[in-house]
Amino acid sequence: MRPPAPSAGLMPNRSHHEETSVRDELRHEVGPRNFDHWFHKNTTLAVSGEELTVGVASPFLLSWMQKKFRRPITSAAQRVLGPAASVRFEVDSRLTLASPQNAEDSPNADSAPASRPANPTGRPQKPPKPAGEKTARRRRFADLADFVEGEGNRLAVTAARQVAEAPGEKINPLFLYGGVGLGKTHLLEGIYRRLRRQYPALQVMYLTAEAFANYFTRALRDRTLPGFRHRFRNVDVLLVDDVDFLHSKRVIQEEFLHTVKQLEGHDRQIVLTADRHPRLLSKLSDELTTRCLAGLVCRVEPPDFEARRRIVGHKAARLEAEIAPQALDFVAHRFRNNVRELEGALNCLETHYSMNRQPVTLSAARRILADLERDCIRIVQMADVEQAVCGFFGLQPQELKSSRRHRSVSRPRMLAMFLARKHTQAAYSEIGAYFGGRNHSTVISAERKVEALLKDGTAIPVASRSWPLGEVLETLEHQLHAG
Ligand code: ADP
Ligand code: MG
Repeated sequence: MRPPAPSAGLMPNRSHHEETSVRDELRHEVGPRNFDHWFHKNTTLAVSGEELTVGVASPFLLSWMQKKFRRPITSAAQRVLGPAASVRFEVDSRLTLASPQNAEDSPNADSAPASRPANPTGRPQKPPKPAGEKTARRRRFADLADFVEGEGNRLAVTAARQVAEAPGEKINPLFLYGGVGLGKTHLLEGIYRRLRRQYPALQVMYLTAEAFANYFTRALRDRTLPGFRHRFRNVDVLLVDDVDFLHSKRVIQEEFLHTVKQLEGHDRQIVLTADRHPRLLSKLSDELTTRCLAGLVCRVEPPDFEARRRIVGHKAARLEAEIAPQALDFVAHRFRNNVRELEGALNCLETHYSMNRQPVTLSAARRILADLERDCIRIVQMADVEQAVCGFFGLQPQELKSSRRHRSVSRPRMLAMFLARKHTQAAYSEIGAYFGGRNHSTVISAERKVEALLKDGTAIPVASRSWPLGEVLETLEHQLHAG
């Protein structure tokens, strides 16, 4: 089978031009070697408005690429699409098809016409659209009605609905936090949509903290701060995604704090999201942290099996594919980390269906997803663990690897060993060697100790407060998988 070249076939229009420019910028950002290896034929890029969608071949690669390349991709996108540019990752079925195993699985593969214009969503082709309708779409904001409720997100959804019903009245600010791919952006977009519909007269502003930072930097540079401030301090509702971006950026925090204060002074609604609890954003100024804590701080947890199964069912019902309930059970069992993975897996099954036109059975699902998994690299490496732990506890790598036994160092080191054991393929002895030339029995005892502490629900000090170890580990693990 000859799959369509991933980068070919995109519409020869403005977004095509932008995609090419993003590619050029990206090559520059990551260097030609990385570019050839990871991007050249292995990703698709699609621009729609200010959003760049990066298509990758599988749910496994998705986590990896996000972790490794989110930053350079975002910079490249911003240089081409402007400061508000955002990036999302998606499993692109056209790339999935390129994997040799799957080609064999797919007797009808050749019937997939290679010349068809690729579609920028990376989803399999739907029936032809009426002539004149553009293939390049503007991504619609997610809807609260499409958000599947479960134990882990019930409070967050309820709060989001309340904010959308009565902005500025009850819950203010609303702060949503949790790991990657758990629906924070979905909820924020959902609030935006509902507000626009219900209160068309309100000025609602939605953006990422990174875009805020970019606008600010640009305003500083162009000496247009008054205009910038006027714009941000006069909205009725301010929705800011991923405020963890502001973590160690003092000057921008200061500006953001003033914006928040001004808005709160006038009872304007604010909703923020982040990857962790405000108190764990230890480099946030105390005043900003206090503001974040003043309303409702709400955790979005990973979905349990029941919730995953319902999400998968909900999403599968919208696909043009027949997927057996047992295959859906399998997906919900197999992909536990977050909802993006579930979507990625479903995308692959949908592609398989579109090529074979036969219901996807449990055994087909097992095979398709196992092939993909085998093709993918290990996701977490020791250096990633080191980086996450050092960043979290504010340590230097040398300290972590030193012989210091003070708890402020030995405990993070112990957690690093535990995480390395759990998330990398390294052997005990390699882990010991990496973290300061220790032997394998040190790693084994670190692992046991962490397990025991977890079992007891022990709390450990982080940023001069006590935190349950379980929550600390969960935050670190999400960072490992998200980058
Ligand atoms: P986050 O911002 O927390 O990283 P997103 O909001 O981007 O996560 O969610 C990732 C994907 O999963 C999105 O496509 C989103 O629509 C979907 N999603 C997440 N949670 C749910 C849910 N509870 N119900 C339906 N879709 C969900
Ligand atoms: Mg998000």
